[in-house]
Amino acid sequence: MNRKTVVLTFDDAVISHLENVAPLLKEYGFGATFFICRFHDEWRAAHSSALMTAEQIREISRMGFEIGNHTWNHPDLRKLEKEQITEEIQKLDDFLADAGIPKPVTFAYPGGPYAENAVQILKRNGFLAARTTEQRTFDAKTDDPMRLPAIPIQGDDPALFRNAVSRATETEAVVLVFHGVPEYVHPWVHTDFDRFKEYMAYLKENDFRVVSLRDALQG
Ligand SMILES: [Zn+2]
Repeated sequence: MNRKTVVLTFDDAVISHLENVAPLLKEYGFGATFFICRFHDEWRAAHSSALMTAEQIREISRMGFEIGNHTWNHPDLRKLEKEQITEEIQKLDDFLADAGIPKPVTFAYPGGPYAENAVQILKRNGFLAARTTEQRTFDAKTDDPMRLPAIPIQGDDPALFRNAVSRATETEAVVLVFHGVPEYVHPWVHTDFDRFKEYMAYLKENDFRVVSLRDALQG
């Protein structure tokens, strides 16, 4: 394997993941992981038009993309008791199971920071890897799978994307984090769809191997 690997991850179940991102990635033959959370009931009700339903998430899953767990309510896990962490993870797993989506094996820490207090719970619940937003490259052979680094891409700054992917080497992958493309409810993590198309074209033209987190774990 000599090609450089970029892992695409998309957080928070934004509707544009189904409307824009997944069809484009399909066209390119790229893999990706979609990290799902639901937020609390009132918030979800107020923003329902911007978020994917269970059926829409299943559609992404059926297109062949990986679905990962990002907790139910997106809390800072470092501040929670073990029982609360277990509930946050289990509730989202149950939601996905009810929707007929395979049990997730990858996880993303809400907000990004590594939560050491969640690691044993994640392992017990069948997770093979968990993504932080520690901005380093990722070596499947040496990195702690429960503390995978990743680089958030947001705003209208193509240099951020170019610099991030230029850090990939033949042994170290770069994991990217996107939110909505476009983003409707968290404008600070917005990516313009035309800009995103440029990014994907760049990965194709430069012959990157573009995969889900689950596939990247295989090396
Ligand atoms: Zn998130």
